[in-house]
Parts: sequence; C-alpha cells; structure tokens
Amino acid sequence: MLPFARLTIIGLGLIGSSVARAVRAQMPVVRITGHDADPAVRERTVALGICDDVTDTAGAAVMDADLVILCVPVGAMGAVAAEFAADLPADAIVSDVGSCKQSVAEALLAVLPDAIIIPAHPVAGTEKSGPDAGFATLFKGRWCILTPPENAPEVAIERLRIFWQRLGADVEIMDARHHDMVLAVTSHLPHLIAYTIVGTADDLEGVTQSEVIKYSAGGFRDFTRIAASDPVMWRDVFLSNKDAVLEMLQRFSEDLSVLQRAIRYDKGDELEALFARTRNIRRSIVEQGQDDDAPDFGRKH
Ligand code: NAP
Repeated sequence: MLPFARLTIIGLGLIGSSVARAVRAQMPVVRITGHDADPAVRERTVALGICDDVTDTAGAAVMDADLVILCVPVGAMGAVAAEFAADLPADAIVSDVGSCKQSVAEALLAVLPDAIIIPAHPVAGTEKSGPDAGFATLFKGRWCILTPPENAPEVAIERLRIFWQRLGADVEIMDARHHDMVLAVTSHLPHLIAYTIVGTADDLEGVTQSEVIKYSAGGFRDFTRIAASDPVMWRDVFLSNKDAVLEMLQRFSEDLSVLQRAIRYDKGDELEALFARTRNIRRSIVEQGQDDDAPDFGRKH
C-alpha cells in the first residue's frame, strides 16, 4: 500500500531531485510534480525526466498533491509556503527536508496555520548542489528524523514514516529543539570549523596557494570537501539554528583552550587520552554502518 499517490517537490536541487529519483525507483506509480524558482533548474529537471510534470509556479505544483515536500534552503521555506498557501488542498501533508527544524516549523506554521505540517530532515547529502547532483540511493541506510508538532495526527506521521522507509531511510521521531541541538554538534559545527580552517589557510601569508593545494593530503583535503558545500544553504543553516550553534561553539572553544594548554605544557597523556577516545567514536560510526571502513574513505590512489 502506497503512503501517498501525488507528490509535489518544491526545490529541485540535490535533495529535491534525489527524492524524485528515489520515488521513481521505489514507488514508480506515484505521480511527481516539481517546481523550482530557477527557470534553468526547471528546464534541466524536464530534460532529466525525473518528474511527471514541472510547473512555473508553486501554486500550480501543489493543487492536487497529497504530500508536498519543500526542498529549498531553510531561509526560503516560509516564503515558498506563502506562495502556494491559497492552492494547498486541505488534506495535503506538508513536509520539508531542512537541516534545522525549529525555525522551519515556525515559518511554515505562520503562513499555513491550518495545514498538516510534519517537518523532516533526511540526514544525508553531499557537498554538491543542483538537479544533476542528486541520485536515487542517497537516503539508503541513512537516518531521516521527523519532528512532528505535538498536535500532529498520528496517521499523518505514520504515512510520512512509511514514505521515508520506502526510500531506504531509517526513521526516528524527535523533538525539533533536540534535533537542532544534536545536529548543531554533528553537522553544523563541523561545517563551521571546515569553513574556518580552509579560510585560514587561504588567508595565510607566507604559504602560497599552490602549497596549500599541493600538500592538501595532510588532513586539509577532507576539510575542503566539507567547505565546498553550498554557500546559500549553509548561510541559512547558521542563521536559522543560531542558538544551538552558538552554544556548541562556546563549548568547542573551551575544549580547544584545554588542548592548547595541554600542548603548551607538554601534557602528552592528556592529548593521547583524548585522541584514543575520539578514535573509538570513529570505530562506532563504522560499526553502525554510517561510514566505510576502507582506509582514507576508500579513495583510490
Ligand atoms: P540545492 O541543491 O541548492 O537546491 C535548492 C533548490 O531550491 C535550488 O534549485 C534553488 O534555486 C531552489 N530554490 C531556492 N529558493 C527557492 C524558492 N523560493 N522557490 C523555489 N525554489 C527555490 O540545495 P540542497 O542541498 O538540495 O538543499 C535543499 C534543502 O535540503 C535545504 O533546506 C538543506 O538545508 C536541506 N538539506 C541539505 C543537505 C545537503 O547535504 N545538501 C542534507 C540534508 C538536508 P536557485 O538555483 O535559484 O538557488
């Protein structure tokens, strides 16, 4: 039994186009309508053939949907929802894939006060953007976190859970505030650190650009992959999850000072104890199937 028959995807970039491809692969009879603000993205989506229909306006896209998923940057969610509010069927479920949940829930509720809104976050992605970057197996074996408001109908939560499970994801239900705190430390802070390190190296006088690139295998290279992530998406994530990110950044700064002290005063034991603890975390991530055990992330040399 299919959880939905008519899906609308708004925002046809990496995540939106991956949802379309995954639905095509796993639930081929579901009718998929897409919309994107960018005419070039709409044109490309038509050429890729991953939607049944691509509309010029958000309103036309949602008209007969039973599930609408917003796949635009988190700062654009409220404005997009306002665009289609008048055309949304009363029984449609509205969801999203935004990387922060509290601010998105508030933005959607403000413009869709009577709609059934079940926010979601598939914890899956790459540093690429746009409709060509998507792929059907992106969500396979990854977590998708649903953050339903307290009054959300159980049956709607269940339908969305089945939808994401059909795309290969493991589904978890969480409070939006808790989600934002957890993701601040597991995703948002690491991105901020990567953006900082790559920026610092780029600013260094006395180290030429060619040296930064030439010797990048020394750890720097893995940061550059994260720091290549979409600038608009990440600008919005930091501004939308401000409180949790600032809280985690404060803790991080304190821990960094402790390390700084340990280095200054030759406290090798302290350094080694921390590094042993962090190595175990890496081991657990691999054991739980969240990354590859191949050396150097399986890169071919
Ligand atoms: P993306 O590849 O840049 O795609 C976003 C698309 O939305 C772009 O085509 C963009 O058009 C379009 N758009 C922007 N504003 C719009 C509007 N007002 N109306 C209609 N379309 C609009 O970004 P993405 O990586 O798929 O990210 C989409 C969402 O997924 C974000 O909320 C992000 O937080 C979340 N997410 C991302 C990842 C990840 O790793 N990338 C993982 C999980 C969740 P333009 O070309 O005009 O910008």
